[in-house]
Amino acid sequence: MRIRTLSAQLVNQIAAGEVIERPASVVKELLENSLDAGSRAIEVEIERGGVGRIHIADDGCGIHRDDLALALAAHATSKIASIEELEQVASLGFRGEALASIASVARVRLVTRAAGEELAWEIVAEAGTAPSAPRPAARRAGTSVEVSDLFFATPARRKFLRTDKTEFGHIDTVVRRLVLARAEVGFTLRNDARAVFAVPAANDEDARARRVATLCGQAFLDSAIAIEESGAALRLRGWAALPTAARTRADLQYFFVNGRAVRDRVITHAIRQAYTDLLHHAHHPAYVLHLELDPATVDVNVHPAKHEVRFRQSQVVHGFIAQTLGRALAGARAGSGPAGPTRAAAGRLFGVAAPAGAQRPIPLAVREQAAAYAALAEEPAGAVHEDASETPPLGYALAQLHGAYVLAQNEEGLVVVDMHAAHERITYERLKRAFGGEGVRAQPLLVPVTVAVGRQQADLAEERADTLRSLGLEVDRLGEDRLVVRQVPAMLARADAARLLTDVLEDLERCGAGAIVEERGNELLATMACHGSVRANRRLTLEEMNALLRDMERTERSGQCNHGRPTWMPLSLGELDRLFQRGR
Ligand code: ADP
Ligand code: MG
Repeated sequence: MRIRTLSAQLVNQIAAGEVIERPASVVKELLENSLDAGSRAIEVEIERGGVGRIHIADDGCGIHRDDLALALAAHATSKIASIEELEQVASLGFRGEALASIASVARVRLVTRAAGEELAWEIVAEAGTAPSAPRPAARRAGTSVEVSDLFFATPARRKFLRTDKTEFGHIDTVVRRLVLARAEVGFTLRNDARAVFAVPAANDEDARARRVATLCGQAFLDSAIAIEESGAALRLRGWAALPTAARTRADLQYFFVNGRAVRDRVITHAIRQAYTDLLHHAHHPAYVLHLELDPATVDVNVHPAKHEVRFRQSQVVHGFIAQTLGRALAGARAGSGPAGPTRAAAGRLFGVAAPAGAQRPIPLAVREQAAAYAALAEEPAGAVHEDASETPPLGYALAQLHGAYVLAQNEEGLVVVDMHAAHERITYERLKRAFGGEGVRAQPLLVPVTVAVGRQQADLAEERADTLRSLGLEVDRLGEDRLVVRQVPAMLARADAARLLTDVLEDLERCGAGAIVEERGNELLATMACHGSVRANRRLTLEEMNALLRDMERTERSGQCNHGRPTWMPLSLGELDRLFQRGR
């Protein structure tokens, strides 16, 4: 397929954000491109932790000569052309930003020969300059991308890089994850001219097992149960270690959804649930698992780096994984010795009482700083351990602008947050979680608020008292056309109780008498969230601003407010450098 520039509208619908944080992010993006190009053999060469040189050569479909400049342009992609395609994207990439972002912070040399073409073409781009015109070159079919002098024009960014060894460690993790994701592709990885591993394409079950043994160790494979189960529209396959072979660290946990490595709370919770009765509380399950399902039922456009997903039917996915694994483990248990400690011990750790898909409630603490954040953040599958001292993604607050925006500094540069929109999204997600789980916690008002309403509304409030209560609103009728609000959701304690009630009643009226609140619940919660959110012109302390940033990092879909507008925008040092025409 040819490369096109995405429409401005589609660009806005794609989770935005800088993706190039460190050499490993470059490797990830380039490898994803090679995989999307249908490659069967990919070679990766790293020098000096990737800062010196990253070279990736594939045998994929190549790029048409006339598309070469577009390949390096922002928002140009051959992978999607419309919002419909975005909703069922099957490729790893689709944002059309990676090569452009890489070319803005490094020197990029791309040599490519499209399938069926006689000639190969080469194009070179340096940070901040337009790419050269394509020159003829020699190459077999496929594409090589060489990235050198990463961050050479952005010293501030280079400063945040760790030692070559650490950076290579991150790269190694990224490559291994993709090698496990795509068994049908052969990979070689070389570091400073030494071979790290070479795995051939694996086209049958034995070969796939050998690949897992090469990457995860023979011991893992020996202790693991092979999983292969198909449900209605779902398929789970791979290997899960027996509880007796659980690890003291969560360092061997690979989960792939349609070939994409993801970390996802629904999945993590389902797996923990399967192991609940079986695992010592200090131990972590080890697994390499692939879930396949219709791409239209999973949203990958949640996070710029695309390692988070949202399932349209997360309960179904949760149940399928928990049951499949649970059955496999239960079946294997008989022959595999003692099954670990009591349910109570495991329950304490994994919260067995929590409903499916529920998450730990996250209080709006204002005291949090980096260390606490790092400690609380959920461990991603196969995660690289980040230093507690590293800057969190949205960075630290610097100031408030015109009472509406929070300015923060992160590793990439500046982050501008629309305070109201961000807070509204956080409140909404939290309300949804509470509503779907333990219920919205109500808080009595010190002074109950009397509200004058129409008679019909008063009737409605009386009829739907239970619904209102489930939303955290305790309301009594005082007379024909008067209500009194006694309790409001604790999260919205500062909201105007009278307006909150009348807006919710209006929504309920619009739902119609028959509608069940479960169906329209989210609309009601969105209305409520709007009331609880910090209004423009409220002065925030730096601590409050930092708490807001940390909350955003943990909130699903916090990149957009309830009305679909972005909640924050990055302005990278690279972009600032370009604005001021530096680094030329
Ligand atoms: P995206 O992957 O989101 O489309 P990229 O900036 O990563 O955006 O790549 C832009 C385009 O360049 C891709 O859509 C693809 O058409 C082309 N491309 C990049 N790398 C390769 C490759 N290794 N082989 C073939 N085409 C490639
Ligand atoms: Mg890409």
